[in-house]
Amino acid sequence: MNHTRSIWRIYFPLLLPVVLLFLTVLSITVLSSQVLSTSFIVIVVILAVVAVVATYLFTRRLATSLMQIRAGVERITQIDDSGRAKATSDDSIASLAVTVNDVARQLQERAAELAQRRQEHDTIVSSMIEGVLVVDADEKLISINQAAVRLLGLENANVIGRTLQETIRNSDLHRLVTKTLNLGTTVEGDITLSGTEDRYLQVTGTMLRNASRNTIGALIVLNDITRLHKLEQVRRDFVANVSHELKTPITSIKGYIETLLDGAFRDPDDAERFLKIAAKQANRLNAIIEDLLKLSRIEQGVERGEILLEQAALKGLLTAAVSVCETQITAKNIHVSLSCPADLIARINPPLLEQAVVNLIDNAAKYNDSGSAIEIAAIQDSNAISITVRDHGIGIAPEHLPRLFERFYRVDKARSRAEGGTGLGLAIAKHIVLAHGGTISVDSRMGEGSTFTISLPLR
Ligand code: ADP
Repeated sequence: MNHTRSIWRIYFPLLLPVVLLFLTVLSITVLSSQVLSTSFIVIVVILAVVAVVATYLFTRRLATSLMQIRAGVERITQIDDSGRAKATSDDSIASLAVTVNDVARQLQERAAELAQRRQEHDTIVSSMIEGVLVVDADEKLISINQAAVRLLGLENANVIGRTLQETIRNSDLHRLVTKTLNLGTTVEGDITLSGTEDRYLQVTGTMLRNASRNTIGALIVLNDITRLHKLEQVRRDFVANVSHELKTPITSIKGYIETLLDGAFRDPDDAERFLKIAAKQANRLNAIIEDLLKLSRIEQGVERGEILLEQAALKGLLTAAVSVCETQITAKNIHVSLSCPADLIARINPPLLEQAVVNLIDNAAKYNDSGSAIEIAAIQDSNAISITVRDHGIGIAPEHLPRLFERFYRVDKARSRAEGGTGLGLAIAKHIVLAHGGTISVDSRMGEGSTFTISLPLR
């Protein structure tokens, strides 16, 4: 009923001029009926009626089409944000034009809004440190951010539209993506990218579905966990090394005590010998634990900002360090020379820096021949203050130098143990120097000796 009224409202204005024309023709015809023949008048009237009927039918079709167009346009525009239809105030043709204009305006607004949202989305994705890539259901790349290009080491960022297999040569990643697309749940896994230096990535895959819940692809997020992986490896190695280092003296002590208990204590000579060995191993155990505690205190101090630096003279500190090693130096009849300007001042933590220098002098004495010499010098140049400890001992082969400052790294394990070394002296020295914002390095030649240099920043 409503629909019929609406159609009438549209086609009535179109039909009106035709009806008026018909009435005009009819009036003229009637008025001129005195001069024209009756058959002519009948023909004119029939033609006029046919014209009116044809116009009526044409207009009716036009009106119906216009109504359909309008209904369609209204369906697009008259849904407000809450999903309810808006009330229509007017059904005329004029309102169709208004509605079409409204649609055009709304489309423009929505296009601008979408463009802005897309830009915001692109900015967020491209500024993420996590790698993000999106593939379609056929594993073709739809989108990839800069971080993913960098993490995956892609030389050509122009990979959109190509399959994952073509662009990234990593079977673990392919498996993870396929699993994500097949399972439909979030899939997590770690992958290794081999290269000059291996990279470790944590990968999270999430399936993407459209409104009808059909799979349209997968979102893959990549996190660089190389640093964490290395730290974890260092921690594992450290725990294994500490256990091993502690186990050796404990096994020895246990063995000698058991031998004594088995009856060896009855022989005074054996008893004394075994107890001396057990005491030596206990000292070794103690030295390792003390060095471990020193290391951990330095690390904690650095983390908590508790290592306080002050302006202090270096000469007194270096002299004190030599005195600490006096027993060993004298035992090996080593000649020590010290060269340091009395007024050379550095920003240091004196007890800690003394410990670092003691460790270097102790090594120089340990790995130096009897009757040899150790030269200790401190100088300031335009860039830094350097403290060097030089010996003329056995020297260190080049392949050991890169790992020399690692915890428990020893060139000659047997010699280190025989000399009472813990394998932690250089690691402690390195951590102390780092806590001062400095660096430590070594220069060594086999059979000629080694020079260790601590460089402290000028403040
Ligand atoms: P250790 O307690 O075994 O001496 P360090 O960390 O102090 O442990 O030193 C690590 C290793 O570096 C030593 O075991 C030794 O092989 C080597 N080393 C250190 N200093 C010297 C040196 N002056 N001359 C020769 N080798 C050295």
